[in-house]
Amino acid sequence: MEYKKNTEIELDITDISNEGEGIGKSDGFPFFVKDALPGDRILASVTKAKKNYAYARLVRIISPSRDRVEACCPIARSCGGCRLQELDYGAQLAFKERKVKNDIIRLGGVPQDILDKAFEGIDGMEVPFRYRNKAQYPFGRDRNGNIIYGFYAGRTHEIKSCDDCLLSSPDDHAILEVIKGWLLSEKLSPYDEKTGRGLLRHVLIRRAFSSGAVMVCLVVNSKELPHRDVLIKRLTGMGKNITSVSYSENTERTNVIMGKNYHTIYGTDTIRDSIGGLSFEISPLSFYQVNPFQTEKLYSHALEFAALKGKETVWDLYCGIGTISLFLASKAGMVCGVEIVPQAIEDAKKNALINHIDKVQFFTGAAETVLPEYYSTVDASTELLHPDVIVVDPPRKGCDEKCLETMVKMQPDRIVYVSCDPATLSRDIKYLRANNYELRRLHIVDMFPQSVHVETVVLLGDKRVDGHINIDLDVEKLESKGGKATYAEIKDYVKEKYGLSVSSLYIAQIKDKVGLDKRLNYNHGTGKTDGRPLVCPPEKEEAIMDAFRHFNLI
Ligand code: SAH
Repeated sequence: MEYKKNTEIELDITDISNEGEGIGKSDGFPFFVKDALPGDRILASVTKAKKNYAYARLVRIISPSRDRVEACCPIARSCGGCRLQELDYGAQLAFKERKVKNDIIRLGGVPQDILDKAFEGIDGMEVPFRYRNKAQYPFGRDRNGNIIYGFYAGRTHEIKSCDDCLLSSPDDHAILEVIKGWLLSEKLSPYDEKTGRGLLRHVLIRRAFSSGAVMVCLVVNSKELPHRDVLIKRLTGMGKNITSVSYSENTERTNVIMGKNYHTIYGTDTIRDSIGGLSFEISPLSFYQVNPFQTEKLYSHALEFAALKGKETVWDLYCGIGTISLFLASKAGMVCGVEIVPQAIEDAKKNALINHIDKVQFFTGAAETVLPEYYSTVDASTELLHPDVIVVDPPRKGCDEKCLETMVKMQPDRIVYVSCDPATLSRDIKYLRANNYELRRLHIVDMFPQSVHVETVVLLGDKRVDGHINIDLDVEKLESKGGKATYAEIKDYVKEKYGLSVSSLYIAQIKDKVGLDKRLNYNHGTGKTDGRPLVCPPEKEEAIMDAFRHFNLI
C-alpha cells in the first residue's frame, strides 16, 4: 500500500516508539504519530511515507486514551524534552518497563524465563516533576529578532521559548532573565547557528539540591567573556545562592553544547552536593546524574548487586566524578575508576579526599583503552586483573567491544551494568551471555519522568562459578571432614593472612580440584589464548588450600 503525503487516515494507537511517537497500524502498515498515545483513536495526516512505515501528524483525537492526561506545560508538545507528558505517570512507567523488557528479549536474546526471574521492578517518583538539577538553555533570536531562550523543538534546532520548565527549578527563569537583560544592556548578541556569529550559545544552570547552591556557566563563542563584572554583580545580587559563575569557550560550529574548558569568574570552580551521606564536588564539564531523588535509588541497587563484603577488588568503568566508585569503596577493599573526561577525574580525586576515602584509584582515558592496556602491561598476579566485581555505567552508545572483551578476560564474579539505553544494554548483555555471563537481576529506575528515557541496572554473574547466583555462593557453606566455611570466610582468611584477593571462581576451582564437591561445572579456560592465567595462580591456590586446611575442610 502506498500512502501519499497529506492522506488522512483513522488509526487506533496501540504502542509507543522509542522516540515517544504513538504507533497505529492500518492493514498491518505502521504509522508513527507524534503526540498520539496508546488507547487513542485519532485522525492523522501522513507527513512522510516510506516503504514499510510512515510518519503522520495528529489532526484530531476522535476518542482519547484512558491514560491521557492534560499536559501541565504549555509547550509540552513542541518542546523536545517531555514527550510523554500527556500520558498518565503510571502508564509512563508501564511503557518503560515494556520497552526495557522487549529490548532485552529481542535485542539481547535473553530467554523469557531468565528475564522473569531477574526482573525486580521499576522505581517511579512520587512527584514526577521539578526533579532536574541541571538544565542547558540555548539562547537565540525569534523571527522578530527578539532575544529568546528555552529548549530546542523536537528533532530541530528551533528554539521554543520557555519561561518555566516544569522539570527544573522555577528560579531558572529569573536567572535567565538577568542574563538576557545583560545581553541587552551591554549590546551583546546571542549566537546564531546559521552564521556562526554572536556571543552566547547556551546557559548551563546546575543546582546542588542538598545545599541549594547554584552554578551558572555561560557557553560562549569567544575566548573572553566581555562585560563580565556587570554580569557577576547582577547574578550575585539576586539572592539565589549563586556560588559559582563561569564561562566555557566553544567557538566550534558543532552541536556539542559545552566547550572543552571553562574559566571561573566568580566563586568556586565546583558546587558541592551530597547523595547517600557522601559529598561530591561537581564542575560544569563533569557528568552528574540529573535526578538526585532517583540517583540514590539507582546507586543503592548497584551497590546491592555488587554484594560487597568489605575486601573485594572492584573496577568502576565510566566513573564520572567517582560517585559510584566512592559508594562502592566504603564497602570494598579497592576500587579503580576509569573516566575519559580529565576534569571529571580531577573532581573524582577531590571527592575521594573530602570523603576521606583512600581505597580508590582513578585512571583518565577511554575504558576501551585503559582497561586493555592495564591488562596487557600489569603483572599477571596483580589482584586488580581478576576483580570480584566490574561496574560499568557507559553513555548511551554502551560499552565498546574492546572493553567488553577485556572485562570477560578479567573474569569478575559479577558485572553490574548501569545503563541509560536499553538497546545498547541489550546488545552488550548478548555479548556477555555469549561469554560465560548470565543475567541474574534487573531493576529499572525512572530517572527521567515525562521523557522517553529510562535507566536500568542489571547484575550479570559468572556462569562458571556455579549454576546459581554468586551472592548465594558467598553465603553457601562448604562442609567436609567436620569443618565448615563460607566462600566469604575463605576470602577473608586468604586476604588477611596473605593479602591476596581470591574470587569465588578460584575457590570453586580448587574445591573441585581437591574433590570437595564435584557439582560445580566451571570452564577450565581452554580456548582463551591471550597468555593470561585462566585458572587460579599457584600462590592463590596455595593460600586457598591453606584456608581449606584452616577450616578443617581437607
Ligand atoms: N557513573 C557516573 C557517570 C556515568 S555517565 C555517575 O553515575 O555519575 C557516563 C560517563 O562516561 C561520563 O562521565 C562520560 O564522560 C564517560 N565516558 C564516555 N565515554 C567514555 C569512554 N569511552 N571511556 C570512559 N569514560 C567514558
